[in-house]
Amino acid sequence: MRELIVLGTASQVPTRTRNHNGYLLRWDGEGLLFDPGEGTQRQMIHAGVAASSITRICLTHVHGDHCFGLPGVLARMAVDGVAHPVHLHFPASGEEVVRALVGLAGPGIDLRLVPHGAPGEVADGLAVVPLHHRVETYGYRLTEPDGRTLVPERLAAAGLSGPAVGRLQREGRVGAVRLEDVSVPRPGQRFALVMDTAPCPGAEELAEGTDLLVTECTFADEDADLAAAYRHLTAGQAGALAGRGAARTLVLTHFSARYPDTTGLAAQARARAGRATVLAAADLDRVALPRRRAVGAGRG
Ligand SMILES: [Zn+2]
Repeated sequence: MRELIVLGTASQVPTRTRNHNGYLLRWDGEGLLFDPGEGTQRQMIHAGVAASSITRICLTHVHGDHCFGLPGVLARMAVDGVAHPVHLHFPASGEEVVRALVGLAGPGIDLRLVPHGAPGEVADGLAVVPLHHRVETYGYRLTEPDGRTLVPERLAAAGLSGPAVGRLQREGRVGAVRLEDVSVPRPGQRFALVMDTAPCPGAEELAEGTDLLVTECTFADEDADLAAAYRHLTAGQAGALAGRGAARTLVLTHFSARYPDTTGLAAQARARAGRATVLAAADLDRVALPRRRAVGAGRG
């Protein structure tokens, strides 16, 4: 199961309808919690997310709207008796803030601090890329390795079925039949999260070829001067990231409280988003990862 559960969509100031940030990505057996702002613990209850489903917590930066929910979430995990290790990723320059927040939560879970100070892979398939904000900020990208999709007609023509198919997938060939003869390439899925940043090469890199791209969308195009002053994206800039990167689905979030209605922001993003499906997220939205595409099979 792969889906994004939006726990909050507010930037600096929450509103009656928008909690501070918080995003849970269910990715097979993993549960990655990104940027838990204030109130994340309670939003998890509204969303039906168990604290035990979190295996990894990823902070883009240590501004309050992206991390002040951390003590509550950690304390709740301890109350619930979470036994599995939990990795906490964050920019190294934010370590003092992170240690203070973790200290507030107290002990009780097997929490492992994993600071990063350079781009690259921080866990299997999980990479960080620097962004351009007022403090050290990194976006995250999760990449599934490319694989192959079996074509049932070709399997049948090759006379393979049952346990032989499993052997073919494990060993790459069964007798004269090679895996590539009966399958087509399937690009791995890609998810990326681009939080507080001005337009920058890192944001472009993160957006490239994503199935699901989550970006901040703090300001409307007409407030581009504010976006530039505070190093944030306008709706149009967020859309352009998806368009240039050929993202399949763009989820906009981290809205300024000055826009009670996000319809206009979505329209501004859509105008520059190419073929991407553009959604302005609302609290508690769930977005499924778009189905994987197999190359050249017309199926899968
Ligand atoms: Zn923010």
